[in-house]
Amino acid sequence: MKASEKIKGIVFAYNTEGEYGMVKDLGMEWMRMHVSFPWTDRMFGTISEQYLKEKEEIIAVHDCGFEIMVTTPGLGAYRFDEALGKTRWMETIPDFCGEKGTKEYYDNVRDACEFICRDLGDAAGIYWQCMNEIDNPIFASHYSDEIVTMTARVQAEGIVKGNPEARCGINLSAYTPRALEIADLVYAPGHSFYYMGDDQYYGSWQEGTVETWTETIDKLYERYGLPVLANEWGYSSGGEYSDHHYVEPKMVPFGLPEECYTQKWYFTAPGGHTDEVQADFVYRGLQIFAEHPHCIGSFLFCWRDAYKCYHCGGETCPSEDYWGIVTKDCKPKPAYYAVQKALKEFYS
Ligand SMILES: [Zn+2]
Repeated sequence: MKASEKIKGIVFAYNTEGEYGMVKDLGMEWMRMHVSFPWTDRMFGTISEQYLKEKEEIIAVHDCGFEIMVTTPGLGAYRFDEALGKTRWMETIPDFCGEKGTKEYYDNVRDACEFICRDLGDAAGIYWQCMNEIDNPIFASHYSDEIVTMTARVQAEGIVKGNPEARCGINLSAYTPRALEIADLVYAPGHSFYYMGDDQYYGSWQEGTVETWTETIDKLYERYGLPVLANEWGYSSGGEYSDHHYVEPKMVPFGLPEECYTQKWYFTAPGGHTDEVQADFVYRGLQIFAEHPHCIGSFLFCWRDAYKCYHCGGETCPSEDYWGIVTKDCKPKPAYYAVQKALKEFYS
């Protein structure tokens, strides 16, 4: 695949306010956007306000000339609950789909994804991400591997039923033995997927730096024989680095990253978590994805710095608050210009 045909994408988060023109000026062609489960009361019942809002924005973004990779509803997530003031599990697929793991449940999840695909029509691009980071307990909780992986498989079946041209994949949260165990189940014979997706945050959530991607793409391609998409990647421009852990991991509440608990990063790229290192990191990453023969493109995480960390509610939390290439108030960081330059240089 020529570099000019690869996915030049960005995850349109957080706290966005319709600044599509700025994303266009960057040279991005794809945005990753989420849709919620469509109904509030029963299968094919009342459409939820949330779903309608998300659909409207997907159509608006598509009308601006972007392709959209839609992410489907997963099982849920541990998130900070403002009202309770703590992090808790929030379920996403409603009980009326049936008991998880039963045929009724899988049939309903398949049907819901077929509906989403048909309902979004041309506004959705051909690439789809089924669920989110299903190997990560933050998004899988205590659900069994069978429920988690079969849910992803039937979602892909539903999407491909809705659009036979659709290209589905999952996004692993890392390249670890545990993640591969999950991926082996998802991509067991008979699956409906097109690509293998991976999220990696070398130098932030994982050890390494952006060049580590090359080896990861090679290994994923070797194992699954499918083109590889970098569904999420990036570098946090803020947060203090620590070379030692302050607490026993077992002290940290389940579902909350240790980084939120201690407000430290345990990994860093050379130079630390700064605007300049972030800019250099994203520039080099875009070159790697353009040149790697088995990579079909990437979605940079993310557009804008977050006001609050969705895990812990913190306003200056290393975990989530500094991933943007623009600041909270939408001013370009050095990484914005680095991305613009790289997209011109490596993808034309
Ligand atoms: Zn946090």
